[in-house]
Amino acid sequence: MLSTRNSVHVVGKYIGRFAPSPTGPLHFGSLLAAVASYVDAKANLGLWLVRMEDLDPPREPAGAANRILEQLLQLDLTWDGEVLYQSMRLTAYEQALELLTSQGLCYHCNCTRQQVKAMGSAYDGTCRRRSDPPPSDFATRLRIEPVKIGFHDQIQGLYQQDIENEVGDFVIQRKDRLFAYQLAVVVDDAYQSITDIIRGYDLLESTPRQIYLQRVLHYPQPRYGHFPIIVNEQGEKLSKQRFAAPIDVSNASPLLHLALQFLGQSPPSSNRSLKPGVQLQWAIENWDIQAVPKLANIPQVSLK
Ligand code: GLU
Repeated sequence: MLSTRNSVHVVGKYIGRFAPSPTGPLHFGSLLAAVASYVDAKANLGLWLVRMEDLDPPREPAGAANRILEQLLQLDLTWDGEVLYQSMRLTAYEQALELLTSQGLCYHCNCTRQQVKAMGSAYDGTCRRRSDPPPSDFATRLRIEPVKIGFHDQIQGLYQQDIENEVGDFVIQRKDRLFAYQLAVVVDDAYQSITDIIRGYDLLESTPRQIYLQRVLHYPQPRYGHFPIIVNEQGEKLSKQRFAAPIDVSNASPLLHLALQFLGQSPPSSNRSLKPGVQLQWAIENWDIQAVPKLANIPQVSLK
């Protein structure tokens, strides 16, 4: 069954967000996410919130969250309201987990990383079929109904995923008891009444899982747009884990100019030396989300 239910939350004001994981300072890829989400929000007369996704302490060097905030300020990317820290939101994730559990949608899984890897791309439901749940050392997975999730991505167009066969029942609480990104992001996007999410293409395939969770938790579905991510010469995603260099915000003006060009906008070359705030104002006035490049290999599907 292909489900195209579209409960896009468009009533009221646009609320966008930038949600970095503080695993290191901003690199060029995360700068793009900050700039694209900021400019899209402001071009739509919306709010732009910052949420620190600090859910995984072992991967977060001390001071990284503050460093990111300082970098944003040096780029004149000023956020609305207070920064929300996911580390302060554990009770909310616990409540969502309890709600899903009370609906019989969760089960415990102690498959090892190697076992899961050997299954290929989708979890094969091994622990779903167990009659004796593992007593300890388990992750919690969400039971998935066979449904194709389709949505209209503002940049990439129509995207759909056969979530059962491409992903399978997915983890919402990890073995180490940390809440999974997929659960926390959905709970907080709803909590902050986020209407629009602009982020990198690497998260496109996570979006159907997030829409699935929004449906079972009866949350509204935001609009999504995924811009292409930067790859290095080897074609690998540039990420903090791959030691992508932190951006040097003492060079904020040319960096911002480059970011806007990468996002398909055409800032005049004379803007390159202008202060970040002035360049951002130009970008807000001239923002064209349709000019953001697509990726050639996105499956284009019809939702008819
Ligand atoms: N925290 C995630 C990251 O830094 C992004 C989350 C999101 O935009 O949904 O990759």
